Amino acid sequence: MIPVKKNEEYIAEITAVSSDGNGICRIDGYTVFVPQTVTGDKVRILIVKANKGYGYGKLIEVITPSPDRTEPVCKSYKRCGGCQLMHMDYTYQLKVKADIIENAMRRIGGMKDFTVSDMVGAENPYRYRNKMIFPVGADKNGGIMCGFYAQRSHDIMPLDDCFAGVKFNAEIICAVKEYMLENNVSTYDENTHSGLVRRIFTRVSRKYGDIMVVISVNGRNIPNREALISKLREKSGKITGIILNINTKNTNLVLGDENITIWGCDTITDSLLGLDFKISPHSFYQINPAMTEKLYAKALEYANLGGNENVMDIYCGIGTISLCAAKMAKHVTGVEIVERAIEDARENAAANGINNADFYASSAEDIVPKLIESGEKPDVVILDPPRKGSDEKTLSAVVTAKPERIVYVSCNPATLARDVKFLHENGYILISACGFDMFPNTVHVETVCLMSRIEK
Ligand code: SAH
Repeated sequence: MIPVKKNEEYIAEITAVSSDGNGICRIDGYTVFVPQTVTGDKVRILIVKANKGYGYGKLIEVITPSPDRTEPVCKSYKRCGGCQLMHMDYTYQLKVKADIIENAMRRIGGMKDFTVSDMVGAENPYRYRNKMIFPVGADKNGGIMCGFYAQRSHDIMPLDDCFAGVKFNAEIICAVKEYMLENNVSTYDENTHSGLVRRIFTRVSRKYGDIMVVISVNGRNIPNREALISKLREKSGKITGIILNINTKNTNLVLGDENITIWGCDTITDSLLGLDFKISPHSFYQINPAMTEKLYAKALEYANLGGNENVMDIYCGIGTISLCAAKMAKHVTGVEIVERAIEDARENAAANGINNADFYASSAEDIVPKLIESGEKPDVVILDPPRKGSDEKTLSAVVTAKPERIVYVSCNPATLARDVKFLHENGYILISACGFDMFPNTVHVETVCLMSRIEK
C-alpha cells in the first residue's frame, strides 16, 4: 500500500539529496523526491506523482529552512530548472557533488569504501559559462521572445539575466531583437517549422574577451545583413565574428551543419595553460575555462609525463588536453568524431609550434581498435568522453595495448563508474579521483580519475 495520495499535502523532513539534485524525504517509509529542497529542510509538499516504489512532491512551503539553504540569486530559478542546486549554500553543493561521485563509484562501479581525494570548488560560482544558447520564438501577442526553455518543456521564458553566463548576453539578445523588429524578420515556430530565426548562440573568450555571435536560421539568408552586423557591433567592439548557421531541418539540433561567416572571424580564440586555441562554432570547448585549467592540471599530474611517453587522447575535441600533454611527452595521438574539431586541433598544434601530435577524425570505437592493432602502443591513455561515457569496443582495445596509466575525465559519474568497473575487471586499479565543480549551482559534476595497470 502506498502511504501517500496524489494531490494531497504532507509535512516532511528532507534527509538527503539524490543524484539528480532532488531532496529526499520519507513518509511512513515511502520515498518522495522533492526538487528545490535540501537536507535539513522541514517542508510542506504536494504529492504530484505516487509510483509503486517512490513518488514526487512539489515544494509548497519551507516551514523550517535547513542551515544549508540559501536564497537563489536568480528570479527565474524556479521555472527554469537549469540551476537545480541554487538554493543550497555553495559549500553544501560541493558536498552533494562529492556524494554523487562516491555513490556512483560504490553502487555502479562496485568500488567499496570509495572516497574522492578532493572536491575542487569554483572561486566564483556565477558568470562562469563562456557559451550560451538562447531559443527565439514568438510570444502570445506575436512579439519576439528570447530566453530559455522552461523546465521539461519547449516553452520559451524570456531572459532577464542568466547568472551562469556573462552579462553581455542580454545586450546581444537586445541587438538581435531590435534588428528583427526593424527589418520584419520572423521568429521560428517549431510546431509549423516556419519562420526564420531559431536561436542565438554566443561564445566568449575568457582570456581575450572576444565574443562570437552565431544566429541559427531556418533558411540560407537573412534580410538586410548589414543592419544586423551594425546593430551587434554598436553594442560592443568585442564582437569578433558574426556567423549565420543554416539550420533548415525540422529537428531540435542546436545547430545545422553549415556556417556562413557574415562578418569577422570564423573562430574565436581562447587560452588554456598558456596555449592558444581556436574554436569553431561546432567544436566542443569546455564551458568553464577557469575550472578547466584546474581540471587539466590534475589530468596532467595523473598522466605523470616525463618526456618519453606515447599518449593517446581519446575524445580530444579541439586538442586542448592533447596539446598540453604534447609539451611533456614524446608523442600524442588525438581521436575525435567531429571533423571540424580535428581541423581546429591540427591548426592549434601548428599555431602553437607543436609537431609531435597527430589527430584522427573518427569515432573512438572505430579508430582506436584499428590504431592499436596496427601497432600503436600508448604508455598513457586519456579518455574524456561525452555524457554517455566510453564503450566496450574502445575500452577493450585500450586494455589490450596495456598502457601504464589511464586518466579518465568524465562529466557523468554514472557512466564513469560503469567504465571504471570494466577497466577494473580488465587489469586496472583505481588509484585516485578528484571532483571539479565545472558547473556551479547545477547538479552536474566533472571527475578526473587515475587508473594504473596491475602487473600480471
Ligand atoms: N577533451 C576535450 C573534449 C571533451 S568532450 C576537451 O576537454 O575539450 C567529448 C568529445 O567527444 C566531444 O568533442 C565530442 O565531439 C567527442 N565525441 C563524442 N562521441 C564520440 C565518439 N564516439 N568518438 C570520438 N569522439 C566522440
